[in-house]
Amino acid sequence: MDSNLDFHSVRDRVFGDLGLFQQVSGLYDGQWVAGEGRGLIAIHSPINNECLAEVAVAGEKDYDRLIERAWASFDEWSRVPAPKRGEVVRAIGDRLRAYVDSLGLLVTLEVGKTPVEGKGEVQEMIDIADFAVGLSRQLYGMTIASERQDHRLYEQWHPYGVVGVITAFNFPCAVWSWNAFIAAVIGNVVVWKPSPSAALTAIATTNIVNDVLDEQGLPPLFFLAVDGAGEIGQRMSSDSRLPLLSFTGSVRTGREVAARVGERLGRSILELGGNNAAIVTPEADMEIALRGVAFGALATAAQRCTTTRRLILHESLSDSFLPRLVEAFRNVKVGSPLESGVLVGPLIDSRAVDGYSSAIGRAEAAGGQVLVGNSVLALPGLEGGNYVAPTLIEGLPPDSDIVSEETFAPILYVFRYSDLQEAFAIHNCVPQGLSSAIFSNNLREVEAFLSVIGSDCGLASVNTGTAGAEIGGAFGGEKETGGGRESGSDAWKAYARRQTVTVNYGDQLPLAQGVTFDVN
Ligand code: NAD
Repeated sequence: MDSNLDFHSVRDRVFGDLGLFQQVSGLYDGQWVAGEGRGLIAIHSPINNECLAEVAVAGEKDYDRLIERAWASFDEWSRVPAPKRGEVVRAIGDRLRAYVDSLGLLVTLEVGKTPVEGKGEVQEMIDIADFAVGLSRQLYGMTIASERQDHRLYEQWHPYGVVGVITAFNFPCAVWSWNAFIAAVIGNVVVWKPSPSAALTAIATTNIVNDVLDEQGLPPLFFLAVDGAGEIGQRMSSDSRLPLLSFTGSVRTGREVAARVGERLGRSILELGGNNAAIVTPEADMEIALRGVAFGALATAAQRCTTTRRLILHESLSDSFLPRLVEAFRNVKVGSPLESGVLVGPLIDSRAVDGYSSAIGRAEAAGGQVLVGNSVLALPGLEGGNYVAPTLIEGLPPDSDIVSEETFAPILYVFRYSDLQEAFAIHNCVPQGLSSAIFSNNLREVEAFLSVIGSDCGLASVNTGTAGAEIGGAFGGEKETGGGRESGSDAWKAYARRQTVTVNYGDQLPLAQGVTFDVN
């Protein structure tokens, strides 16, 4: 960005473009339901704590009506041929192209991402829409050789029905689209419960996509229920009318969701917290490593599930790489994302700032030394904003309690290693298993990292950072990250029920395994 943008002008323009007002409904059950009589939540911008709008949340009865309507839509939608469903998603992707700027800037206002990252979020929706269009012609199953004469054995994939999607604040629309567009081309209908901290982005997105459906005379497919404190999320988790629930959020909430869905023997896709590490070896290209680690640790103010939270550095690099990283942390511009040159915006709210301070306090109490950072910033003109200084801490045991937790703030813990086995042990000693990286040009080091003795994560990168996944691959992580996979590759199979089909086209009834059962 070349110049600073004015907060109020941006807000007015974005609200005008997206049809948002001072008070908006957070309930779309096939139409926008007026807010009268429902509770209100205020949406504050993390940039300066100004109230952007109030949202009328959904109540229990609203939710029940919404689910009934969603199932009614499913009856119609599931019978549309998949490639035709793909055409609808193509039109949605095209419509989103017209909103990259305004929706991207709404993301900036509401959750504090830099404009380029806010637009990237919308671009990701467009990319997954394109992917889903192609997928709509490739929903194939296998044919298997039958052991019985004149029999055919194959598998096919059907939609589940109404799929629930609960999302976190930090990817306020992209993660929904990963789920929603893939689920929709398979024939599902989607009910979205967004984070209350990012409700406006969800409302604007729902508006855009349902306009396209209205224009085409199609039933509503993308339902929305905003809540205030997870009440609707709890209902969804316990609701057997949602055969599949996709949940993105913290490990703590994910545990509760998984237990509720498990209790009713439903299916879930869990995309939970990460605690991602980058290993930098003496064989790395140091320029690439420096930029990769800095981007991974600081982009989105470290509020990505894939943020680099641990650096595992070869001991020989202590006097070369580490001082440069300290300088990068010291010099990176923190401030309003609307200001030119700012790379690190605000944290989402004051609770996140408290989490930052408390984590640093606990790290120091456990013997950690702060190399740079450890300060809550009061920036002129941005009073009330949630700004903190990027922080590097070393000297902690790699398995200490505070390191084992995901603190959603720019704190990077540094560890040293002498041989690669030790680096892998440090790498894998945390409970989460989302994203990992090694910076090295040595084939043996790289392949060891990618082998079974190396990274235990769902995502492994070489000479690029832990953050910034492409939509074409399956996204997700192991251990406490929950095991879910979304987005590309064959992640679509999680949104479909597999049916194994046996057809006997002969005039006999041979049984499998040679069993005989002659009733005559
Ligand atoms: P959070 O767990 O606080 O909230 C996530 C969602 O759960 C929100 O919509 C929230 O309203 C809802 N919720 C709250 N209580 C609930 C309950 N009892 N039952 C059901 N739903 C409930 O997470 P957050 O602070 O919004 O997001 C940050 C977290 O999300 C981080 O841990 C981050 O790593 C994780 N995340 C993971 C991925 C991934 O793909 N693995 C992606 C983005 C974010």
